[in-house]
Amino acid sequence: MEQSSLKTIGVVGSGQMGRGIAQVAAQGGLSVLLHDQDAAALQAAAAFIESSLKRQVEKGALPEAARAAAIARIRPIAESGPLADADFVIEAVSESLAVKARVFAALDGACRPEVILASNTSSLPITKIASATRRPDRVVGMHFMNPVPVMELVEIVAGQATSAATLETTRGLAKSLGKTPVVAQDYPGFISNRILMPMINEAIYALYEGAGRRDDIDTVMRLGMRHPMGPLALADFIGLDTCLAILEILHDGFGDPKYRPCPLLRRMVDAGHLGKKSGRGFYDYGSRDSSR
Ligand code: NAD
Repeated sequence: MEQSSLKTIGVVGSGQMGRGIAQVAAQGGLSVLLHDQDAAALQAAAAFIESSLKRQVEKGALPEAARAAAIARIRPIAESGPLADADFVIEAVSESLAVKARVFAALDGACRPEVILASNTSSLPITKIASATRRPDRVVGMHFMNPVPVMELVEIVAGQATSAATLETTRGLAKSLGKTPVVAQDYPGFISNRILMPMINEAIYALYEGAGRRDDIDTVMRLGMRHPMGPLALADFIGLDTCLAILEILHDGFGDPKYRPCPLLRRMVDAGHLGKKSGRGFYDYGSRDSSR
């Protein structure tokens, strides 16, 4: 389908990413069918979007009428049946190939044959996800960044069979949502994580080997390279378990020892020190004295 004829977007998975995608699509004037298998997650997503839009109104960044219109365009659905009406579907369920393959096989059966099925995966091969469907030419990666309403980039990932028309429609959709699309080929880490994760891993090695203290490593990258956040703080924000999982995909996918995850990263994940979400990572989010 051409981008200009897209009216209704299906979003599958209403977690951190799915709700952001739903919000941005609704603010972009599209009708949104937001599905999650977990009713509590769906409720939490609707409440999150409401309060996020309300904050924009309070800041004077969004007219009240636009807020109300965006909310009215989002239909949370506990059952997947209505997704048959979607013109384009973006999947944002948990990062598991088995789960995504099941979701794509079901979407392939439910959606019209011309509908493009996009995955927001940050690391799984699009070609593998596409192989769960009978429309691999209409399966594509659409990797939004977190938080979706704020971050401008969408990395569009071309699987082995993704057609040029699918890429074009997906690029057009990203642009219509106010994002800047780039196209990456379907190799481990795409472009973003292939560059980001080795940098984070090297920062962890620098700490592990005593090249510098935590704050010095982060300060070098913030003030010396103008990164808005140091790599260790960024790793905490992303989640150390997520960083480890992506590094393992790079390591396995390329078979190159340069991607081997730092033992300190593994040890921290084993200890449950996963970063901001667990209250402790390279920094301590529960205590005032977090210097190291
Ligand atoms: P999340 O855990 O916050 O949300 C996942 C949601 O999917 C949950 O609400 C869960 O109930 C739902 N779900 C699981 N299986 C389902 C199914 N079969 N049908 C319907 N719903 C199902 O995860 P997230 O952080 O939003 O990540 C979602 C995807 O986005 C992952 O592929 C992740 O790699 C990718 N991603 C995440 C980030 C990030 O920073 N969190 C950034 C870019 C991409």
